[in-house]
Amino acid sequence: MDVYCTTCSEPWDTYHLWHDAIFETGLSPEEAEAWQQLPRAEKLNERYRAEFRTVGWEFGGSVINVIRCPCCPKDAKPNLERLATKQALEELLGDDEDGLAATFEDYRL
Ligand SMILES: [Zn+2]
Repeated sequence: MDVYCTTCSEPWDTYHLWHDAIFETGLSPEEAEAWQQLPRAEKLNERYRAEFRTVGWEFGGSVINVIRCPCCPKDAKPNLERLATKQALEELLGDDEDGLAATFEDYRL
């Protein structure tokens, strides 16, 4: 399933976001492996958000809610309407990340 960057509309495969993007960060492969086993709430704690941010990623409440991505032009701003829609859906489906991914894909978000 594909989801889209809120800022530049680049499509991202959810599998990549769930499993591969973490390996692009400065974490060691062992740390990145361990990250995948973390509960959802801990995957985006401040430490990991900072790691993602240094390589261009910014997420909402889950890694499939892409607010900024490595393809974003430097000064680009997120689309606020899309940002709000994704936040609302995330609140609605937050614990069901597969459902959220499917909904984002349905609405091309
Ligand atoms: Zn982007």
